[in-house]
Amino acid sequence: MIDAPTLFVVLVVTNLVLAASLWIGTGRTRRDGIGPWIAGLVLQAGSFAVFAMRGDSPNPFNVVAANALLAAAVACAAWALASFRHMSLPLAAPLAYVGLMIAVTAGTVDTPAARMFFGSLVLACGMGGVAALAAKPLADVTSSTRGLLVGSYALGALSLVTRASGALADPQATGAHASFFLTMPLLAGYATVLGASVAFLLMQTERADFTAKLLASTDPLTGAYNRRTFLEIMEKELSRARRFDSPLSLVMLDLDHFKRVNDTHGHLVGDRVLQRFADIVRGELRKEDVLFRYGGEEFCVLVPDVAGAGAVTLADRIRTVVERQPFRIDGQEIPVTTSAGVAARIEEGPEDVDRLVNRADEALYIAKRRGRNRVASVALGTRVA
Ligand code: GH3
Ligand code: MG
Ligand code: MG
Repeated sequence: MIDAPTLFVVLVVTNLVLAASLWIGTGRTRRDGIGPWIAGLVLQAGSFAVFAMRGDSPNPFNVVAANALLAAAVACAAWALASFRHMSLPLAAPLAYVGLMIAVTAGTVDTPAARMFFGSLVLACGMGGVAALAAKPLADVTSSTRGLLVGSYALGALSLVTRASGALADPQATGAHASFFLTMPLLAGYATVLGASVAFLLMQTERADFTAKLLASTDPLTGAYNRRTFLEIMEKELSRARRFDSPLSLVMLDLDHFKRVNDTHGHLVGDRVLQRFADIVRGELRKEDVLFRYGGEEFCVLVPDVAGAGAVTLADRIRTVVERQPFRIDGQEIPVTTSAGVAARIEEGPEDVDRLVNRADEALYIAKRRGRNRVASVALGTRVA
C-alpha cells in the first residue's frame, strides 16, 4: 500500500505545479475564475503540507488549520466556477463554509473518529456542491468537459463519504484498515485535483474557441450572422430541406431611405437605428429562424420549415412592428420603415442558394418599386403555410 506521507508530498507538489502552470500559462488574461482556481490549488497545497508535517501526534492547531485550508480550497473552486458563469457568489457562503469546518474540527480534536466522520462529510458536501455547480449546462462548454469536472468532484465526494462511513463503522480503526481510509481518499483527491484542473483549463479554451468563432461569424454592430456565414448556413439548411422534403423560406429586408437617416441624423445615429432594427426583428423570430446582416442596411431571415405564405405573414409582421415602433435615439424620433422580399424553396425545381437569393432580391426590388414599406414575393412554390 502507498503510504500517506508520500501521498501528501505528491499532492503538495502536484497542486503547486498545476497552480504555477496555470499562472504562467494564462499570462495577463487571468479571468473567468482562473485567479480563484489558482488560489484554491495553492490553499490545497498548503493544507497537504500541514497534513504532511503533523506526524503521528497531531496538535489541535495543525488539525484545524489543515482542514480549514482544504475547505477554503473547495470554496475557491466554487468561486472560480461561479465567476466562469458570471454569477456572483455571496462572500458569506464560502466564509460560512470554512467557519463550519473550523467549528467541526475544533470541536472534535480529541475524538479522531468523530473528526474523521464530520470533517469528511463537510468536505464531501462542499465537493458535491461544486459538482452540482459544474453540472449546469453552458453554451460554450462541451458536455464531455463538464462531465469530467462533475465526475472529478463526484469521485472526491464519494471517497469522503466512504471515509466517513468507515469512521462510523469502526471508530477504533487501526492498522491496514485505518490506512485504507486515509490513502483511498488521498488517491481519489489526487484524481480530483488533476481531473478538475484539466477540465477547468479545457473550459477556458473551449470558451475562447467559441468566442473566436462567434466573432468571425457575426456582425459586431448588430450581433446578426455576417455574410460569410450566410452561404454556409444557407447551403446546410437548403440541403436539409431537400433531403427531408421540407419547406424553407427566405425573407430579405431593406430599410427604406436609410441614406436620409444618415444624412439627417449622422452615421452614428444610423448605426443605432440598425442595432434597434436587428433587435426588433429578432424579437419577432422563432428559435430556428436565423438573422443575417446581408449588407449595409440589408438583412436576411432564413425561415426553415415554413412555406412561402407563412414567411410572407412573418415579413409583414416585422414590417408592421418596425413601422409602429418608435425609434427614439438621443431624444430624436426617427421614422423607420422597411421593405421585404420573400422567396421560398420550390420543391419540384432544382433549387440552389443563388436562385433563392435572387428571387428574394427580385421580390424586394418589387416592394421598393411599389412604394416601399411593403412586402412582395416571387414564385413561392405550391405549398401553403
Ligand atoms: P432604399 O429605400 O431604396 O433602400 O434607399 P436607401 O437610402 O436605404 O438605399 P441605399 O442603398 O441608396 O443606401 C443605403 C445606405 O445605408 C447608404 C449607406 O451609407 C448606409 N449604410 C450602409 N451600412 C451602414 C452602416 O453600417 N451604418 C450606417 N449608419 N449606415 C450604413
Ligand atoms: Mg435601403
Ligand atoms: Mg440597400
